[in-house]
Amino acid sequence: MINIVENIQKLRTQIPDNVALIAVSKFKSEAEILQVYQTGQRLFGENKAQEMANKAQNLPKDIQWHFIGHLQTNKIKYIIPFVTKIQSIDSQYLLKEVNRLAAKNERIVDCLLQFHIAEEETKFGFSLEEAEKMLKSTDYQTFNNIRICGVMGMATFTDNVSQIRAEFKNLNQYFHYLKENYFSQQPHFVDISMGMSDDYHIAIEEGATLVRIGSVIFGARNS
Ligand SMILES: *Cc1c(COP(=O)(O)O)cnc(C)c1O
Repeated sequence: MINIVENIQKLRTQIPDNVALIAVSKFKSEAEILQVYQTGQRLFGENKAQEMANKAQNLPKDIQWHFIGHLQTNKIKYIIPFVTKIQSIDSQYLLKEVNRLAAKNERIVDCLLQFHIAEEETKFGFSLEEAEKMLKSTDYQTFNNIRICGVMGMATFTDNVSQIRAEFKNLNQYFHYLKENYFSQQPHFVDISMGMSDDYHIAIEEGATLVRIGSVIFGARNS
């Protein structure tokens, strides 16, 4: 029997106070999310826009929803009215569209730039060069309805701890480079989102400020 409440309470003892825990609730039921909510958890992560919108509608309004999956531009509309942070901005076109819809909703939406730090081709994200190209573009200077708060990345799915560590170090370096060169006047540029159930210990050692954890809390996923 999975004891969700016990799992998250034990997990919290592993996470320092200066690191925020995002409970990744994708594929999990509203009843399961409520169990976690009742322990005091308010930050939740989802990777499907419609699923997140449905859950947000039915669950307590003080939940802060972080979007962490690949976001198709035609799905932005489902989450833009309420999303707390879009962690997975992986192209200039996506950011432009998020900005456009945020303006329509009269909001400023917090975003993270997702970087491709893993070996696997399947993972989304900017290279440093692509991100800099965007940040230097005149188009980007007109994005008044988004606020970039930091970086996000996923390590390679491997048992090789030194490889995972190197990838997290890499993301940390990107964060500091961008902070120095593009966001030095922006005190809200603070987030390094990295670390999942299998590698959050390493991510915390390498400077994560946000960890995104599902299976350790809810048990293995159904899909
Ligand atoms: C599913 C997911 C997580 C959580 O994964 P677990 O291994 O279950 O902790 C974290 N980040 C992203 C982007 C995800 O898609």
